[in-house]
Amino acid sequence: MVIAIDGPAGAGKSTVARMAAETLGFTYLDSGAMYRCVALTCLEWGADPEQSGEATSTAESIEISFEDEEVLVDGVPVTDEIRSAEVSEAASRVAVHPGVRAAMVTEQRRLIEAGDYIAEGRDIGTVVSPESPLKVFLTASAEVRARRRAEQTGGDPREILISQMERDKRDSEREHGALMAADDAIEVDTSELSLDQVVTKVAELARERGIA
Ligand code: C5P
Repeated sequence: MVIAIDGPAGAGKSTVARMAAETLGFTYLDSGAMYRCVALTCLEWGADPEQSGEATSTAESIEISFEDEEVLVDGVPVTDEIRSAEVSEAASRVAVHPGVRAAMVTEQRRLIEAGDYIAEGRDIGTVVSPESPLKVFLTASAEVRARRRAEQTGGDPREILISQMERDKRDSEREHGALMAADDAIEVDTSELSLDQVVTKVAELARERGIA
């Protein structure tokens, strides 16, 4: 069973999904980390993230796994490397290709089949798990999202805002798995809410629906 949490970068998905999973005793799945693994591998192997064929064969040839707090590619931990600005940029490029998405969606479905998950991303409620009994779409203003990222990474808020706008645009306009709320998703604007308030809201919704 899957609780889907989707939304744009910086809306608080990762932290909220991680904390809500802990509160409810579910397993957390960070689907964005998987696109980041494909991007990192492309960069390491010299494959062009813009090139559908190269990015897709890279996605199809690696094994991505999660162990405790670590993300691994072919058994090698890449948890920190996948968070660099260069990989963020390349991840949003590889995520456009239908072949890359198909490989990731298949793997995500295989993972979540095996238990109770809170999965976060862009297309969990629309593509990966449309039958999910609870879909939450987290939003926040672009400025608030950029400021949060800057606080996390120590980067410049203006530069982050600009690259975030480019990534948002690519995520929203791509043909496959575009960022959008499912028709039956509950939208939560986190701009004025604390993390605890958002986690409590997700946990309440899960309990109201009898899924936790
Ligand atoms: O969520 P995060 O910023 O780590 O995701 C990295 C990139 O992966 C995003 O910019 C987005 O383009 C892509 N992504 C996606 N579908 C998902 C999760 C992430 O396309 N379900």
